[in-house]
Parts: sequence; structure tokens; C-alpha cells
Amino acid sequence: MKLIKNTCIIAVGTLFFSLIAKAQKPPVIHEEVERDFHPAYAALATGTLAQRHITGRKAERYPWPVAIKSIGHTMASYQRYGGVSGAYFHHGLDIRADAGSDVLASAGGQIVNIENYMPGDDAYWEVAIIDKDGFIWQYHHIERDSIPQSIFEAYETKTPIPAGTKLGEVYYWSVVTFGERYHHIHLNILGKDSAYLNPFDFLDLLPDASSPEISKVYLVRDGNSVSGNTISSGTYTIGAEIKDLILSDVFVLPPNEIKVSLNGTTPFTVWKFDSLPGGADNEKYVNEFYLPRLACGDYSCRKPVINLGFRKKAGQPFPLTPGAHEIEIIVSDYSGNEARRSFRWNVE
Ligand SMILES: [Zn+2]
Repeated sequence: MKLIKNTCIIAVGTLFFSLIAKAQKPPVIHEEVERDFHPAYAALATGTLAQRHITGRKAERYPWPVAIKSIGHTMASYQRYGGVSGAYFHHGLDIRADAGSDVLASAGGQIVNIENYMPGDDAYWEVAIIDKDGFIWQYHHIERDSIPQSIFEAYETKTPIPAGTKLGEVYYWSVVTFGERYHHIHLNILGKDSAYLNPFDFLDLLPDASSPEISKVYLVRDGNSVSGNTISSGTYTIGAEIKDLILSDVFVLPPNEIKVSLNGTTPFTVWKFDSLPGGADNEKYVNEFYLPRLACGDYSCRKPVINLGFRKKAGQPFPLTPGAHEIEIIVSDYSGNEARRSFRWNVE
């Protein structure tokens, strides 16, 4: 009797804990799935930006794959849904569109993949196409049941499809973020060595007339902001919170380009991602270009705080000599809208 009773307790206990486990199963975090998706076929890409940008010739631009409502993220967007070690660059464009609206191939080519890359979760279907120049276009979050049979057949038979072919429809995204339901297509463009390239460089220019905004500039030491404008000599940097919006009032984005001028010298570029700084590695340099103690990027917080002192190939960029110094920051978006702000500081 005692044995039966104990068995019952164990059985009930097991059921209870399995129910708890089910209820507490962490939800799939959308962008972490994107971060970790590195398919083998990416090695087929051979296209380079140098090949696209030949002097005297205009690089070909393509129509947007959906009826765009706004940009949700750019390739440079800071993403951190867990700890700092999990931070990464968004590496593609989130193009927001109505759920159920058509997704059309921007460039024609051969379909190299149709896959549910987070098995069991219908949000993560992709159709990938390699175009005539060797660039791979990955269209993510296509509704599985909307992918035409002819697309599966073209994939099986390796028959190229023309530009404008319907690939499917935009998946219904259940997450609401910044007050809007986040239906979107995540578009990556891959080049040689699986490097992530900036889709803005390939798509038609958007009608965007609003400038980015440099909302805060401050001295930074050991990753934290310093109040005031005086710093003792030693390693330090300058951080800037820079926000851009593209066809949206809420989806804060980083700028396209940042130039700085130090003490009146010729401005030089410190931030411009034609391709991801780590190539195929979407985590490399993210906690150097951004200031992780001051920046955030998830479903409820977007604060692009950028380290103006980081260079891939250089050391301390700011003056250590005692006295007054000045930086002029010039930021622009992909349509060329510009904003400027100056900041003065003293080294003791
Ligand atoms: Zn995305």
C-alpha cells in the first residue's frame, strides 16, 4: 500500500512538474534564431561590392520585395535579448509590411533553399535565391502555406525564376513591439565568404526626408558615461546616442554613416556598414562599435549608443594632451539627410 501511495505521489509529482515545465518553456526569441542561422549553401555566394560598384557604371538597384510600411531594423541595429555576450548586429533589413501581403523576388535567379530553419515553428520559413551576380537573397518569415507549388518545383528542378515572381506572403507576427504588430520580412543579402551586405545598397532608394538625430554626447570611461566635460588624461572615449527613423515614428534605428572632425581637422568616417564589420560573423565588433553598458536593443528598448572612438585598426583616437578639445559629429541616413552636433571637452 505504501509503495502504491509513493508511486502515486511520484506520478502526480511528475505530471505536475511536466506541466510547470511546459508552462515555463521559454518562448523562441525571434532574433536569436536569426543570429544563429548560418546555412552551408551560403558558401555559394561569390558577389562582391567592388564588382557592383565599378567606376563610371551605375550599380543596379532592385524593387522592394513587399509593399513596405517602414524599416524595423537595419543591418547595423544593436540586438541584445539576453546577456551582453549574446549581442549581435541585426545583419539584415526588417522590412515591415502587412501580414498576408505578397513577397516578390527583388532579383531573379535560382532558388537555393526553402527551409523551416527553426524546425516546428512556422514563423521561420525562408526562401533563398542566388542572383546572376552571385549574391544570395534570404527572405525570412514567409507564411509556409502561401509558398506556391511552382516555387517548390523550381527549387527541385533548379529552374531559374524571373524577378517579380511571387515567393509567398508575409507571416502573421504575433509580437507587438513599440505599439505595433511586427509583421515583417527579414532580408539578408550574402556575398563572397558569406559576408552580410547592406540591403540598402541593392534596393531602390526610399522616400525618406527626415534626418537622424544626435540626442546625447558624453565622455566615457571604462564603459560608463562621465558627467560634465572634463576628464583626466588616460584612456577614454566619446559616446553618442544617435537615432534615425525610416517611414516610422517608433522604430529607432542607428544612422547609416557617422563622420567626425577632431579639433577642426578634415572629417573622417568612423561608422558605415556597407558590409558587416565581421563579414559572416554577426557578433564580431558589436560590443566595440556600441557601448554595451549604455546601449540596448530588444522588443522594449532601443537605444543606439555608439562608441565614436572605436576603429577596427587603431588605438586611442582622442587627444590626451591637456587643454580644450572639440569634436564635430556629422551623421547621415541612406537618403543623405544629415545632422550635426559639436561637443567640447577638457583634458586635465
Ligand atoms: Zn530581423
